[in-house]
Amino acid sequence: MLDLKVKKAVAAGAAGVVIVNDREGDMRGGLTGPQARVPVVGVRKQDGDLRGYAEIVASTMSERRVTRNLIVQTPQGRTDEVIMVGAHLDSVQEGPGINDNGSGSAAVLELALRMRQFQPDRAVRFVWWGAEELGLLGSKHYVESLSQQERENIGLYLNLDMIASPNSIYGIFDGDDSDRVGEGPGPRGSDEIERTFQAFYDSRGLPHTGVDFTGRSDYGPFIMAGIPAGGVFTGADAQKTAEQAAQFGGIPDKPLDPCYHLACDTIKNIHLVALDVNADAIAHAVAAYAFWDR
Ligand SMILES: [Zn+2]
Repeated sequence: MLDLKVKKAVAAGAAGVVIVNDREGDMRGGLTGPQARVPVVGVRKQDGDLRGYAEIVASTMSERRVTRNLIVQTPQGRTDEVIMVGAHLDSVQEGPGINDNGSGSAAVLELALRMRQFQPDRAVRFVWWGAEELGLLGSKHYVESLSQQERENIGLYLNLDMIASPNSIYGIFDGDDSDRVGEGPGPRGSDEIERTFQAFYDSRGLPHTGVDFTGRSDYGPFIMAGIPAGGVFTGADAQKTAEQAAQFGGIPDKPLDPCYHLACDTIKNIHLVALDVNADAIAHAVAAYAFWDR
C-alpha cells in the first residue's frame, strides 16, 4: 500500500512524500524496494497538518542482500505426495522476533529432530524461509522456482507463523471459508487440513477458532499455485475480543501479541503453554498425513 501511495505521488510530480498515519501512534511500515529517488517519511496523525512549507531530510540506504531458505527432507517416504511444513526464520528490523517467528521455527526444528525416529510413508520436507517480513520473498522464490511436476509432487503445505502469542487464541486457518470472513477458501484439501487441526484441539478438550485465510504469510505462494495449505496461528496485533476472552481466557481489548513487530518480542514474549500445545498440533497434522492410516 505504501509503495502504491509513493508511486502515485511521484507520478503526480512530488519531490518528496510525507505519509500521515490515520491511526494513533507512530507511523510504522516500509517500502518493499526503492520506489523512487525522492525522500519518503511517515509522521504521526497529530503531526500531519503540513500545509505550507516543509523540508524533508531523510537518510536511507538501498542495497542488495542475500537471504536463504533452509530445506531438509526425510530420506524415507514417497516423494510424489510430499508433506511440507514451514516457518519463516527472519524477523522484522525492529526486534528479535521471538514469537514472530522464533516460535514457529522452533516447532519445525523440534519436529524435524523427532522425525528421525520414524519412517514416514510420505516424505516430509521441513523449510525455514528467508525474508518473509519483506514480502514473502523466500517462499515466493521457492514456489516460482519449482517445475510444474515438482509443484504437483507437493501434497500439502503447513505453515507456522506466530504460535505462542502472549494473549493467545487457538486459531486455525479457515481453509473452507466456513466463517465467511475476509478471503475465500483455499485450494481443495485446505478444508480437510482445517478439520485435522480442529480434531486435534477437540481431542485435548481445547477451544479453537477460525482465522481468515488471507495468504499473508508463507502459505500465500502455495495457495496461489493451487497447493492445499493450512496452519495454526495465535494472533498478531489484533485486539482480543470479549468473546475470545470468554472462550480462551486472557485479557480482552488488548492485542493478542502486544509486542508484535516491536523490540519487546523477546523470549519473554512467549506463551509457553500455547507453544507446547501448538508444537503438538503440528506434529499431529504431519503424522496424520505422512503415515498411511493405521
Ligand atoms: Zn511472521
